Amino acid sequence: MKTWIINLLPGFFVKLFAKPYVSGDSIEKGIDRADRLWNEEGIYSTLDLLGEEVTSREEVELTIATYLELADKVQGKKHITVSYKPSSLGSHESEEYVFTNLKKILDYYTEREIELTLDMEDYTFTDLTLKIYFELLEDYPSYGTVIQSRLFRTKDDIALFQDKKARVRTCIGIYNESKEIALTDKYEMKQQLTQFSQYLIENGSYVEYATHDEEFLIKMLDLAKEKGWTGDQLEFQQLLGVPIRGIQKILMENGFKVRLYVPFAVNWQSALPYLKRRLANNPKMAFYVIKHMFGRA
Ligand SMILES: Cc1cc2nc3c(=O)[nH]c(=O)nc-3n(C[C@H](O)[C@H](O)[C@H](O)COP(=O)(O)OP(=O)(O)OC[C@H]3O[C@@H](n4cnc5c(N)ncnc54)[C@H](O)[C@@H]3O)c2cc1C
Repeated sequence: MKTWIINLLPGFFVKLFAKPYVSGDSIEKGIDRADRLWNEEGIYSTLDLLGEEVTSREEVELTIATYLELADKVQGKKHITVSYKPSSLGSHESEEYVFTNLKKILDYYTEREIELTLDMEDYTFTDLTLKIYFELLEDYPSYGTVIQSRLFRTKDDIALFQDKKARVRTCIGIYNESKEIALTDKYEMKQQLTQFSQYLIENGSYVEYATHDEEFLIKMLDLAKEKGWTGDQLEFQQLLGVPIRGIQKILMENGFKVRLYVPFAVNWQSALPYLKRRLANNPKMAFYVIKHMFGRA
């Protein structure tokens, strides 16, 4: 399905496809889903507040308040971490403003011993995200970020992580970037994903290998066994709603954490851009959801 068609889809239609991919429209629903994943299946979660680029101070304040409330409710739940996006914290205004907001959140989370990960958005955010990350890493050592293997620049960016003992989620990236700056073939992106992950582990980082591709999950597991990597160096991550429990169980049986990205919204309107992006990135999603709805998955 073409991106422009997806953008024209009415909200109710996108919402129809959302059910397996979003935990609900409140903080409580997000935490409840994470608790159930942990209690019933031993699966970890990273919670994410859905919403796209915010463009006013009022919205930024609201986002910060939601993240602080989330921290109060997540405190003590070691199976939950939290992810968030720089664009939700005032990047429309200035770098300094993002820093100030971010420090407020990081202080609050650090006091409560909750790990935070700075998600990576489209290529226009890469410089800002990495700059913020490295400037704050020393003061907040449990702080994590993301690299996207499809971008040509990433082969240089990963060198910045050398000996930083960073926590890095590695993924191919969900944004469709142009061929001038990024690979266009998904198989090549995943080959790079594995190579970059290996480099990062061998240079002291904790890697969160994020893909749903079973071939590459098995390849990474085999590589981990060959190299003798442990659960202190590597974990596996997937998005909520992708039905690959079989392979996830194998990864866990081999001593690695599996963590799901569990998005929640505070209202459905703010969830729509994320869902449309997921649909554009994987049009087969519509097919899977229909299969689910008829109970044949
Ligand atoms: C935990 C996590 C965090 C992420 N954070 C970021 C981030 O910060 N920035 C960013 O740009 N990207 C992020 N991503 C997105 C990531 O790059 C996408 O998952 C990616 O675009 C999908 O690629 P893939 O590696 O799964 O390969 P694909 O080739 O897209 O998928 C592999 C296979 O998985 C199955 N599959 C994939 N999606 C679905 C689905 N929706 N329903 C059913 N089956 C499916 C299909 O069988 C497909 O063939 C994150 C992903 C995860 C898992």
